[in-house]
Amino acid sequence: MAEHIVDIYANQIPILPGEYLPGYISRLSHMMPGTDKNALMSFSGSTQLGRLHQVFPRVVSCFAYRETEIGRSGALLKEHMGSRLWRGFMDETRFKSHIKHVETRTKSKKSIFIGEELISSLKPMKFCNSCAQLDRITFGVAYWHATHQLTSVFNCHEHNEPLQTFHLSHLETLLDYPAIAEQVVANSTKPDSTPLKKWIQRTSEQFMAQPTVDNRLWVKDLQNSMFQASKAKTSGGQTKVNRELGSEWKRFLRSSLNELCPQNNSYFAVSEKNQFGFTQQIQEGVEVANPYIFLLALKFTEDSTGFKVS
Ligand SMILES: [Zn+2]
Repeated sequence: MAEHIVDIYANQIPILPGEYLPGYISRLSHMMPGTDKNALMSFSGSTQLGRLHQVFPRVVSCFAYRETEIGRSGALLKEHMGSRLWRGFMDETRFKSHIKHVETRTKSKKSIFIGEELISSLKPMKFCNSCAQLDRITFGVAYWHATHQLTSVFNCHEHNEPLQTFHLSHLETLLDYPAIAEQVVANSTKPDSTPLKKWIQRTSEQFMAQPTVDNRLWVKDLQNSMFQASKAKTSGGQTKVNRELGSEWKRFLRSSLNELCPQNNSYFAVSEKNQFGFTQQIQEGVEVANPYIFLLALKFTEDSTGFKVS
């Protein structure tokens, strides 16, 4: 396989510590103004860089699984995408088959998780003012940090400050914002910290602290505990909980998504989705359809039963 254009540039302009991978690609494209953007993006199956920060962007698997990165793809995904969190929610076979699809580009539109578009809408770009200041001094550029971009992260781990959020407008992509420059800072806002946000961040940090294999087992354990705590029953291969709990879950899901992403006007359709039903989250042998919905189901079980995540 011929060396990819990104590999050639990466030798001249290295990725910075913990730099968000799509942000790095954006920086590369700006520092090499003559570059054909399509060539730069050709490994991702899309040129819409800024639209790719879904739960687990395709761009990432492509980047990490290039021939030159094979030996350290895991470390790269961890440092530059915080992807350990998401990977623990799917089995290795599904992950590998996704990468195959991406490599052959037979189905470049395939999502790993259901409802990635929804989660993507929950996800403005985020940055920490203190990190940005330090990076300007140390590296001469305030770059996008991977850990800040996780959908479940609202506070800077290093400085314990709420992250500033910056929304790309409809026609913009991250290619328009290679760094946290003045314009980004001026148009950013600092959302309120809420108990739900703190809970989500705390729980996802537990996931990020352990290896993927452990997370996979943990998810199964949690499903089992949620099943028990919600007094679910299985009959004819179907998991059932009492009707009231099922409806309460839908209300909880709508109001939580509203709190996390108020700019979207209605989550009714989402809460009615079969795969996002409460029983789907706790059914034995059923893979998590969407990690974010699963995290909310965990919180819901804590709130409505005596169950505690840890
Ligand atoms: Zn910080």
